[in-house]
Amino acid sequence: MSPIANGTATPAGAPPRAAEALPASEAIAYLEQYGRGDGLSLAELMDSRKNGGLTYNDFLMLPGKIDFPASEVSLQTRVTRNILLNAPFLSSPMDTVTEDRMAIAIALHGGLGIIHHNCSPEEQAAMVRKVKKFENGFIPEPLCLGPDGVVGDVLRVKEKFGFCGVPITANGKIGGKLLGIVTGRDVQFRAESTPLTEVMTKDIVTGDAGLSLEQANTILRDSKKGKLPIIDKEGNLVSLVARSDLLKNQNYPLASKVPSSKQLYCGAAIGTRPGDRDRLKLLVEAGLDVVVLDSSQGNSIFQIEFVKWIKQTFPKLDVIGGNVVTREQAAQLIAAGVDGLRIGMGSGSICITQEVMAVGRPQGTAVNAVSEFASRFGVPTIADGGISNIGHIAKALSLGANAVMMGGMLAGTTESPGEYFYHEGKRVKLYRGMGSIEAMEHTAGGAKAGTAANNAATARYFSETDTVKVAQGVSGDVQDKGSVNKFVPYLYTGLQHSLQDSGIRSVVALQEGARDGTVRFELRTASAQIEGGVHGLNSYTKRLFA
Ligand code: GDP
Ligand code: GDP
Ligand code: 5GP
Repeated sequence: MSPIANGTATPAGAPPRAAEALPASEAIAYLEQYGRGDGLSLAELMDSRKNGGLTYNDFLMLPGKIDFPASEVSLQTRVTRNILLNAPFLSSPMDTVTEDRMAIAIALHGGLGIIHHNCSPEEQAAMVRKVKKFENGFIPEPLCLGPDGVVGDVLRVKEKFGFCGVPITANGKIGGKLLGIVTGRDVQFRAESTPLTEVMTKDIVTGDAGLSLEQANTILRDSKKGKLPIIDKEGNLVSLVARSDLLKNQNYPLASKVPSSKQLYCGAAIGTRPGDRDRLKLLVEAGLDVVVLDSSQGNSIFQIEFVKWIKQTFPKLDVIGGNVVTREQAAQLIAAGVDGLRIGMGSGSICITQEVMAVGRPQGTAVNAVSEFASRFGVPTIADGGISNIGHIAKALSLGANAVMMGGMLAGTTESPGEYFYHEGKRVKLYRGMGSIEAMEHTAGGAKAGTAANNAATARYFSETDTVKVAQGVSGDVQDKGSVNKFVPYLYTGLQHSLQDSGIRSVVALQEGARDGTVRFELRTASAQIEGGVHGLNSYTKRLFA
């Protein structure tokens, strides 16, 4: 390493300083000849024998050269072996963060929601189903009614599922002969007892089975209808296409969707107890794409056996294992067959694991060690916990993580579970660690309460034989952050600007640059951290986006 590379002296081999200044036009050539790159390489930064274990606040990236607009920065990333996202954001499986509403909202903006399991298996599966039904290409199993149905049946469908475009088939099911279609306006102002055969539209524009989605969408657009039933040669219904899905596709260009079905990706967390096998079966039936094995210490025989069982039983389901913070832990889970790894122990904002258990690892060091190792085997990693601003996200990615998982950052949004309340004059929502006594006892208002028998918090942090529950998390509240529909685009745009400042055009390029030493880092002393924050003001307001 040249002395310039560590930001200090004149490089060896450089000519002695001349009495006269060199021509300005030679500045770039000089740098190229005698050493370029201030600061530290990633390997130098992460030398924990010298620098200790680092957190995100302990270092910065150095700026690069900007020769492209921030809007061109690609944040696309592989979050498991098989799932590609347009934004590296996951929401935590916590009962104050991710239920169906959050999972839909974050997926629409390019990320992925992991639905918590502090509820019954049926409740969790119902949430997965809602996410999977939210957007479609061809709706493979549209809800149908028969000719004996009445207007009240459609109103009940609307109440339960949120839509009322219902094909009427001879047997009331998909596969039956298509007789007509009923939509919102057909049932408006009608008595509940009115037969559907009286209000349904019989002269329907249909598409033939075998059309591509693009062709079906063109017919739908040109016909100006709300729904396009797809029928086979005998006139039997095979699927349905909805105009509203074209709008969703247009409004959310980054949405995380399964390429073949156009349904939103949905994740859910489970434990590794025997009962979780039945829970997982329900989730898979509901359409789950990726399961997170939720454990604070993932290197256990329970998890290893569970991963192997899932891979045998549901070979198409992606599995994220964890949590891990060392290469040794990661190696066990990689060998067992995980498709992604979740990194973090004790770094969460609500977490007291490091304090109480004396086990864990500073998150920056953990992310780097595990990601460096896992990438050799093609296994993506997720930096979980401790993200409290956009800079932390950029740093986690620069250390090798493919995505970040956020709890506290997304708690307090409109889409997080629970109601707002006022605390010391501020509008807040509950946010609690899954290892808090409150989560374990399900005492809080807002989040769905499970029963002691299926308490996921207990399963994650405690042993069933414990007579005393030792908490690993706290319960508190976070301020109202508004809707994910604004907050996640803020994170997205901010992250694009962060990478632009580093002269980096994509997440992939950031990681390659960090590995090959072209992305440079600097350690921050305690006073550098103070300098990097707002200081010297009498008072100020901190508005993060507008
Ligand atoms: P893109 O949506 O333009 O990025 O391209 P895709 O390859 O994803 O989509 C192919 C075709 O499917 C295009 O005609 C899209 O408009 C359409 N499409 C994409 N998502 C959806 C969806 O959720 N529902 C429907 N009905 N069509 C979609
Ligand atoms: P509608 O006009 O009241 O039927 O509702 P929209 O067309 O506005 O919304 C329907 C949404 O629900 C679309 O995103 C569909 O993909 C989705 N959806 C999921 N399953 C079904 C289903 O079985 N039938 C219908 N009509 N829509 C469904
Ligand atoms: P945050 O984004 O708020 O900093 O951290 C969220 C992460 O903390 C979660 O994804 C999960 O991994 C972890 N976590 C959630 N609840 C607890 C808890 O009670 N104790 C500990 N040790 N970690 C928790």
